[in-house]
This record gives sequence, C-alpha cells and structure tokens, in this order.
Amino acid sequence: MSTNSFLPTHKLFSHGYKVLFKKVIILDGYTDEPAGLGVPPYINTYPRLIAGAIWVVDKTIHVKYWTIDTVRSNLNKFIQEATQSDMIVFIAGPEVPGKYIGGTPLRFNEVEKLCFLLRDKTKILVGPAARYGFGGGGGTIAVERIRLKKYFDELVIGDPEIYFYESAKYGLERADPYRMRETYDLANQAFIYGSRIIKQHPNYGWNLIVEIETFRGCPRYITGGCSFCIEPRYGKPLYRRPEDIVREIKQLYNFGARHYRLGKQPDILAYMAKDTGTKEFPEPNTDALRKLFLGIRNNAPGLRVLHIDNVNPGTIIHNKSKAIEAMKIIIKYHTPGDVAALGIESFDPRVVKMNNLKVTPEEAIEAIRIINQVGSHRGWNGLPHLLPGINLLYGLPGETKETYILNYEYLSRLLQENLLVRRINIRKVTVLENTPLWLKKNTVYKLLRKHQGLYTKYRLKIMNNIDKPMLKKILPPGTLMRYLYVEKQVGNHVIARMPGSYPIAVKIPYSLPLRKIIDARIKSIAAKSVLAEPV
Ligand code: SF4
Repeated sequence: MSTNSFLPTHKLFSHGYKVLFKKVIILDGYTDEPAGLGVPPYINTYPRLIAGAIWVVDKTIHVKYWTIDTVRSNLNKFIQEATQSDMIVFIAGPEVPGKYIGGTPLRFNEVEKLCFLLRDKTKILVGPAARYGFGGGGGTIAVERIRLKKYFDELVIGDPEIYFYESAKYGLERADPYRMRETYDLANQAFIYGSRIIKQHPNYGWNLIVEIETFRGCPRYITGGCSFCIEPRYGKPLYRRPEDIVREIKQLYNFGARHYRLGKQPDILAYMAKDTGTKEFPEPNTDALRKLFLGIRNNAPGLRVLHIDNVNPGTIIHNKSKAIEAMKIIIKYHTPGDVAALGIESFDPRVVKMNNLKVTPEEAIEAIRIINQVGSHRGWNGLPHLLPGINLLYGLPGETKETYILNYEYLSRLLQENLLVRRINIRKVTVLENTPLWLKKNTVYKLLRKHQGLYTKYRLKIMNNIDKPMLKKILPPGTLMRYLYVEKQVGNHVIARMPGSYPIAVKIPYSLPLRKIIDARIKSIAAKSVLAEPV
C-alpha cells in the first residue's frame, strides 16, 4: 500500500464554503510534556479546551470522548462511531518518555492504522505532537510534522481553543491552526464549558485527577532555556489569573472532580511573578499563590487531593526566603504526599553549562535541602507533605562516562545527608523539533548509543542503592497509608495508589475489587513500590 492511500480523500474543508459539524469524536492518545500530564488517571487540558471551545459556540454539538485504551479494547465500536461523526480530533504528544500504570500512550503505528481505517474522515491532530513532532519515548527522535501531515487534514500548531472556536463558528476551512493565544480569555471560557467532558473519562467517579493550567512559558526564555525543552519557545510567560483558575475548579467540582493537580506550568513558584521578563529566576509572588490556593479550598471544600508539579530549583536558590514562604503557603492548603518535581537533569557541570540547565550541582543539593526543611513532616495520609522529586536526563551534549559517576555520587550524598527525595526519574532525552537540541540530534543519537551500557548499569545501581533505601525512609515498615485506590490486578496481587503527583505503587497480596478505596500498612519496600497489608 503506498503512503498516498492514507491521504485524506473527502474533506469537510474542500467545499470552498463554510462547513459546520454536528458530531465530533475526541480520541485522547495522551500527552506527557515537561509541563502537563494527560495519561490516566490524569485528564489534561486539551480535551477540556477542545470540547469547551466547541460548546462555547454551540452547546448542541455532540462531542464524544474516547481514550486510546478504550479504543484498543473496543476498536470496532470506535470505528463505527468515528465513521458516523463529522470529525475525529486526535490528541497526542508523549513528549516526555515514561511508563505508566494508568494507560499506554498512542503509538505511531496506531496512528497509521487508525488513519488508514478512517481515511475518508476529517482528522485533526492536536497537542504537542502537532507542534513538535510525535515523540516515541526516551532516546528517540520525534516523527517530524512533515510526515504527520500525510495522515491528518490539519495539525493544530496554535492553541486548540482558538482553532475549534473558529471551526465551530466560521467553518473548518476558515479556522487558523497556527494562532497562539495572547490572553487567556477564550481559554477561560472554554475551560468552564468543557469541564463537563470529564464525565466521559473512564476514571471519572473514582481516581480521576484533573490537570490544571496556571500559566504557560518559562521565565528562562530570556536566556533561551534548557537545550531540550519546548517551554521557552512560547516566549514570555502568560499567566492565568487566580480568579479564573478558581472559577474553573469550582465548575469541575460541581461536575464531581475531587482530585486536582496544578501541574500545567514549568514552575509553580514563578506563578504571576512580577519580574518575569527581566529576571531568569523571578521572585515568587506569594500574594498570588495565597489567593489561588485559598480560593481553590474555599470553592472546592470537599476536595481530596490538591497537588502541584514542577518547581524550578533555580527559583528557590535565587529567592530563598520568598521561595520558603511560597512553599509554606502551598503546604497550608494542599494535601500531603505532594511532590515538587525538580528538573535538575544532570549533576555534571559540563552538561549543565553546555545545555544551559538551571542549577549547578551544589545549588541543586541546596534546593533539595530547603524543600526538605519546609515539607518533610508527615500528613494525614501517612506521607510527608512536600518532597522534592529529581529528574535526570541522559544523552545531552557534553555527557561523558564521568557524568554517570558524578550523578551517582551526588545522589549518594542525599542519603548521607539524610535528605528525602520522593522519586528519581531517570530518562533518555527525546529530541524535539524547534528546540536547540534538534540541531544536535546526531550527537545525541551517538551519545545514547555509546552510553547504552552505562545507562543500564547506573539505572540499576541507582534503583538498588538509592531508590530502595530512600523509599524505606519515606515509608518505613509499619506506616499507615490512607486513601489508596485499587487500580489493577496483576497476577495474585493488586496495585493500589493514591491519586496525586507521582503516587507510590502499593502492592497488596490479595485480590480486591477494582476502584475500592483502602488504607494499608507498609510491610516491606522494593525499589519503586511497597508491599502492604490492607487495614
Ligand atoms: S527551566 Fe528548563 S526545563 Fe524547565 S521549563 Fe524552563 S527551559 Fe524547560
């Protein structure tokens, strides 16, 4: 079959006049970006913005939401529904490589298959894949957009709410797929209208976590940002006002959402920072953070989880007292078990310099110390309130054998200093279009191949010698963990997790009904999970 047979044949577009649609399918292939997660139990912003923008124009348009996992288990039904719809919107972009308990992101060969099966339908691609190419996991080069264009009628490179608002109002052919938002006005409206789409999510009613956007763009854009990262390419950060975020959460709450993560931003401590645009590491705006967190609590009084995600360690180092104050505010209003994921990426000064990373190795350790001082006390669910997480990336230019040794030495220091780190995320870099790293993709590819043996060796070493004793400090045997959802049956045990940021996988050696909420007492520790007895 030639590639040309995938090319769209009919077009809602090609009629040369305004075309409206009545039935839309959203196929969520999941997204994982440096800022923002959309793999179950998370629902990311994209489906809410797409459905919401359409409903802002016309509430009667039928929008059906599917996840790729439900498509896999019910392909015939999906194809039947999709064939009867006017348009299928694919959301994709597993740009940050990872393995997930809750779902498996859309793979490129599935894109090929589904686009072939639906070759006569209008298909639109949305999400980071449309903007930066289709990432295939760690150590891969993304499938370029030019190739993706063969499968889709449109790649929405701009913001989805603008494209789908214009499509519903003026017809698909007049919608601009490149336009980026300059304010959050339309997005705020779309978030409100689109919040009811959560009711169609397979995790709705049990462990669904709604990923909330607080801003976009990295304040480090003024120095170009980290070599591999897509976030500085948005230019000057655009902030969402606290009252708009709170209004969205109130609406989500009314539709039944009980778990939230303020995860769609590169650095929660930089939220509404006043010197954004002049400082690479702006001072935290504690008034805005207080307004935001207090507003959420007042408007979603029965929420069970309120977590954050990314924190830039450089913001802590350059603004110590304000950062401590900001973290204390977060801890006052959030729920325990929270993680401040720090994109340290490397403890090798050479790699830090060559990739314009945010902190030196010593600064990274200092940021970890500070978060420990503020957040390591235990909360009602058995977990410390706020712990740092560490992201390490391999394959970056400047990497040598020494990098592996240095990373290991610095991680060992954490144990020696009795510092707690919730999780160490080790990954191979994914090279994305439009990043400085794209120009060095051959170097990255060679490094990853050359260091494959070291990568495997040190990953294992870190898992056995650091992850395991660290997890034992965080959850010593006997600790009672509360509010765990039974998610999966694997052989003769089940896996239960708390909904939230980087939840710990708890293995229970029994069969229990899925979706049940349990409490469990820790018996022993593995490197990445714990064994527990239900209480
Ligand atoms: S600090 Fe680096 S990794 Fe974090 S958002 Fe900015 S550019 Fe991306």
